Amino acid sequence: MSQQRECLRLVFLGTGTSTGVPMIGCECAVCLSDDPRNQRTRPSVLFQLRDGNLLIDTTPEMRIQLLRAKVKTVHAIAYTHAHADHLFGLDDARLFPRFLGGPVRIYCEQWVEDCIRRVFHYAFADAGKAASGFVPKLEFAPIAPAVPFESVGETILPIRLEHGPFPVLGFRIRNVAYCTDVSAIPVDSLRLLEDLDVLVLDALRLEPHPTHFSLSQALEIIRQLRPRQTYLTHLSHGFDHGPTNAMLPPGVALAYDGLTVDFS
Ligand SMILES: [Zn+2]
Ligand SMILES: [Zn+2]
Ligand SMILES: [Zn+2]
Repeated sequence: MSQQRECLRLVFLGTGTSTGVPMIGCECAVCLSDDPRNQRTRPSVLFQLRDGNLLIDTTPEMRIQLLRAKVKTVHAIAYTHAHADHLFGLDDARLFPRFLGGPVRIYCEQWVEDCIRRVFHYAFADAGKAASGFVPKLEFAPIAPAVPFESVGETILPIRLEHGPFPVLGFRIRNVAYCTDVSAIPVDSLRLLEDLDVLVLDALRLEPHPTHFSLSQALEIIRQLRPRQTYLTHLSHGFDHGPTNAMLPPGVALAYDGLTVDFS
C-alpha cells in the first residue's frame, strides 16, 4: 500500500450517461459544445483514501479516465452494479497487480460477481485449467447492503438503491455518499444517507425515466436529505453545463469529468 494520506479526495472520473456525451451521431448543441464540462465519459468515481485508491466501477473509458486523472494504480474496486457502462473497462485492471504485488480486491454483490465471471471468463481458471496470459488477476470479496466493510484504511457502507428493476449499491465513506443509477431509494437506505457533507446523486435528464432519477426527482430527494453539497451525475446531453448549473438551487451542482472534492 502507498503512504497514508491525511486529506481524502473524491475524484469524478466520469459523469456521463451510458452513451457518454457527446453521443455518437448526435448534433445537438450540447454534443457539439466546446465547453469541456459537456464532455462526459461513463460514470465512475475514485476515492483517494488513507491507504490508497478505491475505484467505484470500471467504465469502458477506465484507462483514459485514470490516465487523465494521473492515477498510478487502483488498490481495490467496488461495484454499484454490472451494467456495461459501469463494468466493461475491467480488463485494464490487469496492470494493477504490477504495483500491488497481488490480485485486485473486487467488492461486489453475488450477481455482479456472476456477471464478471461470465463476461471476463478468460480471467478465471476453469475445469482445472489455470487462467493464463496477461489477464486481470481478481479476488472477490462479497458485500451486502447496510453491512460496512473495511478497505484501503476506511470503513465503507454499501447502501441499497433501486435502479428500476435492478438492485444497485451506493457507497458512503464518512460523510460522503455516491449514489448513481438510482430511480428510488428505500426508506431504510434514506436513513443511511442523513447528515452528509457531500451527496453524489443520479440525475439523468429533465424528463422522467424508468431506471434513473430525473432532475426534479433528484431535487426532491435532496430536499429530504439536506446534504451540505450535492453533485449530480450520470448526466445525458439534455444538460448544458453552464446554463443548467446557473438554475440549480444553492448547494446543488452538476458534476463534470475531472472535478475533485476534498473531504475529511
Ligand atoms: Zn449507468
Ligand atoms: Zn446530443
Ligand atoms: Zn445501470
